[in-house]
Amino acid sequence: MHKRVVAVRRLHEEHLGQLERDFHVDYFPELGESHATRFREVLREAHGLIGGKLVVTPEMLDGAPHLEAIATISVGYDNFPVGEMTRRGILLCNTPDVLTETTADTGFALIMAVARRVPELDRFVREGQWKAHIDAPHFGRDVHGKTLGLVGMGRIGAAVARRGALGFGMPILYSNASPKPELEAELGARRCSLEALLECADFVCVTVPLAAQTRHLIARDQFRRMKRSAIIVNIARGPVVDEEALVQALEEGWIAGAGLDVYETEPLPIDSPLLRLPQVVTLPHIGSATHETRIAMAQRAVDNLCLALKGERPINIVNEEACLPS
Ligand code: NAP
Repeated sequence: MHKRVVAVRRLHEEHLGQLERDFHVDYFPELGESHATRFREVLREAHGLIGGKLVVTPEMLDGAPHLEAIATISVGYDNFPVGEMTRRGILLCNTPDVLTETTADTGFALIMAVARRVPELDRFVREGQWKAHIDAPHFGRDVHGKTLGLVGMGRIGAAVARRGALGFGMPILYSNASPKPELEAELGARRCSLEALLECADFVCVTVPLAAQTRHLIARDQFRRMKRSAIIVNIARGPVVDEEALVQALEEGWIAGAGLDVYETEPLPIDSPLLRLPQVVTLPHIGSATHETRIAMAQRAVDNLCLALKGERPINIVNEEACLPS
């Protein structure tokens, strides 16, 4: 008898086809309220779950007694009860590496967009306001040669740092759980405390995963330390930055601007005070959202799940401690 897989969102026909060669697949292109009953039914029989934007709770696991593996189409896994999955022997697989460069591109796009006021001045031209020479009120800030601070120097942090150091001649500071001597050698990056980084950096780019220790890592006290000319960019997860404190920091001029791909509440509510501030550039959580990268992520997730359900070692495992299925 075929094992059963529940697939949710972000899968193309060829990916579904690959799964269907070996498994019985129930696919949910969308997962709204109206699909909840059917989703619960199929999850009860499922051995594998795969998808993007999955939110899994321990109660869901209670309702999925045969589950062996979950493959998320993302590198972040803050929306999974990892300890609980490990305890139940359920593998969690993610998709690192294949999205690193694309997400770093997004980070750098935000750095450039805020510093050079790209969306604001684009609106200025479109609205017919460009009637004379541009003067100081519309000037931006240089990026090249300025100090770039990475809060988190993992795969994505390092890729942003490379862009800054090698493309824009930026001195690199980083705060990270462990030292990265190879990046220090490659880029001249210097590790320092978060406090020192905030005090010295012209651009602060947040790339740490969301976890209990990183929730509101950047809050009121941290904004207070930053330069008045500093720009913060968050391409990690919204709750790493205290959004209320961010709004205060921007409104009261503690910092100069923000580029955001992620938010405490997503989608960002239309009445968010962030949307009233011209020095903020907002994106709708599109860090990895290019055609090429989303296909590569889905392919990696499918490969991970196929391997896990066949009792082989997946390429990416979050919880090594969970037993591989027999
Ligand atoms: P990664 O390679 O695991 O890098 C995370 C880095 O953060 C690691 O270097 C880690 O230190 C460091 N770190 C973890 N906890 C820390 C703490 N409490 N204090 C200081 N440093 C800490 O992950 P990645 O592939 O770069 O991805 C990073 C995050 O980006 C993901 O978790 C995800 O949430 C987010 N992301 C967002 C998008 C988007 O669409 N905007 C796309 C992709 C990823 P060690 O090296 O010592 O372990």
